Amino acid sequence: MFGKILIANRGEIAVRVIRACRDMGIVSVAVYSEADRNALHTQLADESICIGPALSRDSYLNANQIIGAALASRADAIHPGYGYLSENAAFAQACEDYGVTFIGPSPKALLLLGDKARAIETARNADVPTVPGSDGALPDVKSAKECAKRVGFPLMLKAAAGGGGRGIRLLRDVSEVEAAYSAASAEAQSFFGDGRLYIEKYIEHPRHIEFQILGDRHGTVIHLFERECSLQRRHQKMLEEAPSPFLTNQKRAEMGEAAVRLAKAAGYYGAGTVEFLIDANGRYYFMEMNPRIQVEHPVTELVTGIDLVSEQIRIALGAPLGYAQQDIDIKGHAMECRVNAEDPEHAFAPRPGTIAGLHVPGGPGVRVDSAIYQGYAVPPYYDSLLAKLIVHGHDRTEALARMKRAMAEFLVEGVTTNCDFHLRLLGLDAFCNGDYSVDTIGEML
Ligand code: ADP
Ligand code: ADP
Ligand code: MG
Repeated sequence: MFGKILIANRGEIAVRVIRACRDMGIVSVAVYSEADRNALHTQLADESICIGPALSRDSYLNANQIIGAALASRADAIHPGYGYLSENAAFAQACEDYGVTFIGPSPKALLLLGDKARAIETARNADVPTVPGSDGALPDVKSAKECAKRVGFPLMLKAAAGGGGRGIRLLRDVSEVEAAYSAASAEAQSFFGDGRLYIEKYIEHPRHIEFQILGDRHGTVIHLFERECSLQRRHQKMLEEAPSPFLTNQKRAEMGEAAVRLAKAAGYYGAGTVEFLIDANGRYYFMEMNPRIQVEHPVTELVTGIDLVSEQIRIALGAPLGYAQQDIDIKGHAMECRVNAEDPEHAFAPRPGTIAGLHVPGGPGVRVDSAIYQGYAVPPYYDSLLAKLIVHGHDRTEALARMKRAMAEFLVEGVTTNCDFHLRLLGLDAFCNGDYSVDTIGEML
């Protein structure tokens, strides 16, 4: 077993990893920026080390500082969480070079999958259906135009290094290509340090359904079924559930097999997620693979009973999975709402501030993963995610009732949140009937 793990992240996911470490008897080391001195992860970890100023590029993205902190604290391994350095192959390689285990896939798998255009190639080679579009990243605007004419409109122009819903543009006409190409490329360059773009045909009113993968370092790969993540605002997920109300068992098995096939083709180990779009006819298309733990992982934990973060740690140690595909089944139904410090009345603008009062819901079937406490000052520098409210029930009806009950109880004072917006969403006919798409929130607004 690892003696000590350093967590290269902040917020609720850092807290989540600290909790897994404690369950496993592993000493945890938090790293924090100057703005996060009073953050929950800084206080909860067994040890904590300041790694620099508030801005992420000076702290949570500062690979040298983080590896230095791991060596100074004699950590055996680094858990990268999500976002930040979690998909960075050079960082994973540097960890290994310094003798610190990177809790995630190999640097090689990160290279294959972290780049979305290259991941699509990998999927095609593994016989996994992909969205019609460009062959990899586009070399220039001229080839973008040619490709656009061939693929047809409407289409999506997407950043190869994109994530978190950023760097995606919908184009309806060839006259838009030139301007969109330079704007999107500049935006991707500034967000991700990589301006390359690719093209995908636009799938109308699709659902976003993703499969959780677990693979060990001995070649065993299984899936833990799907999460339905279609409730999105501007391509960013807000509410997720498992199982998907849309999938038949046959489609579920087929997509799960495709996800496993892709992971095997990439020599993947660790936890990962294969994201698909599925159209109204049930045709599915690979979209990207997230080679890391995801925000919405607790939904899968509740329906399968498997602790994904502990499994990531065990896999990094070289332990075999210890169970097979047929040992996994779905028990009941789970949902997650992302509670953000943002104002739905004002275009969802981020609203940092101090948590003056807090009541966190509980009771049967309720789990809250958060990084907030009463008196905590939410810093303005980072993602607006405050907490995740996750519920489990015997079936969808019970899970929905529990989510409504728990969300109505959730009280965050002093900071504007999207809790009321979630309550509206939970009351939508389309949601209650399970008949919704990635466009549902946009249509509601
Ligand atoms: P999930 O796929 O787990 O639902 P999201 O897409 O919501 O995750 O992203 C989780 C977090 O990671 C967000 O804060 C997002 O901004 C960040 N993130 C995701 N991908 C990238 C990336 N390629 N570069 C930088 N940050 C990213
Ligand atoms: P990110 O890396 O930011 O997570 P994704 O490629 O996963 O980006 O796409 C995010 C969301 O954007 C999808 O869940 C979907 O709602 C929308 N989207 C992406 N590609 C397409 C497409 N080809 N057609 C329709 N919608 C798409
Ligand atoms: Mg995605």
